Amino acid sequence: MVGTVALDTVRTPFGMAEETLGGSAVYASVAASLFASVGLVGVVGRDFPKQHIDFLRSKGVDLAGLETLDGDTFRWKGYYEYDMNQAHTEDTLLNVLSRFDPRLPPEYRDVKYVFLANTDPEIQMRVYEQISKPRLVMMDTMNFWIENKKDALSRMIEKVDVILTNDAEARQFFDTPSLVKAGKLFLEMGPKAVIIKKGEHGALLFTDGQCFSAPAYPLENLADPTGAGDSFAGGFIGWLARTNDVSARNMRKAVIFGSTIASYNAEDFSLDRLKIITRDDVYNRYMAFQDIASF
Ligand code: AMP
Repeated sequence: MVGTVALDTVRTPFGMAEETLGGSAVYASVAASLFASVGLVGVVGRDFPKQHIDFLRSKGVDLAGLETLDGDTFRWKGYYEYDMNQAHTEDTLLNVLSRFDPRLPPEYRDVKYVFLANTDPEIQMRVYEQISKPRLVMMDTMNFWIENKKDALSRMIEKVDVILTNDAEARQFFDTPSLVKAGKLFLEMGPKAVIIKKGEHGALLFTDGQCFSAPAYPLENLADPTGAGDSFAGGFIGWLARTNDVSARNMRKAVIFGSTIASYNAEDFSLDRLKIITRDDVYNRYMAFQDIASF
């Protein structure tokens, strides 16, 4: 998992968390660790609290690829209104991320499943180029990079097997209101599968000639959706790695596992809910999904 390791300050209608553990690589790693062994590649500053390192280790996340540089950790500050599908960014402080030149530990170069989580697309590319023969590479991005580094982002999309965005990002990237069109246009760029997340409205998976539409788990008590996209991604790729099956049919199951873990994540701030769920919890909610979607 390559991405950001962050200290987040988040406000929702249900509370606030200040300088709390976050970052795309962190959510994705903890989610995937429910299914597979995970290595995290990222950077923190000297101010990063040791308790967060201890927590990641306690989840079995390998940190050989986590560098510490002089300076401050990446920080994101944002808020949500009642429509929690839309994160509003107040501040993005790249800090040590702007000087990060990832060097993969030798034992990571033969890794089979790679998630280039939301981060600078040039960092994603430098990591990608160091991996020898991956079975599946998936990437995520967000509006910040579409606005600031679209060319680098496009070069990265052309290389990956799976691209994951949310609905607003897909519309923004292709300047189209239609998610189906955006899905097709992403497929034309090279990926074999495209996932467009729609927050509480579920997710679409486009593969060659097929579209799978998955619901989201209907949550009654939602506290903080931060990290939903990343924990979805971690659950998705974790399941593919666990089963070592990248067929379109297994990707449908992986979408439901991703949605399941993302739904747990939104029940509390930061990683507080992910910290305590077990694989059995995930399987139970996965079964409930079958019931919700059957007709
Ligand atoms: P999401 O799954 O989309 O809710 O991702 C939330 C996480 O993304 C937060 O923990 C942030 O630290 C992180 N984040 C916010 N902005 C950026 C950015 N521009 N690049 C990478 N990660 C970011």
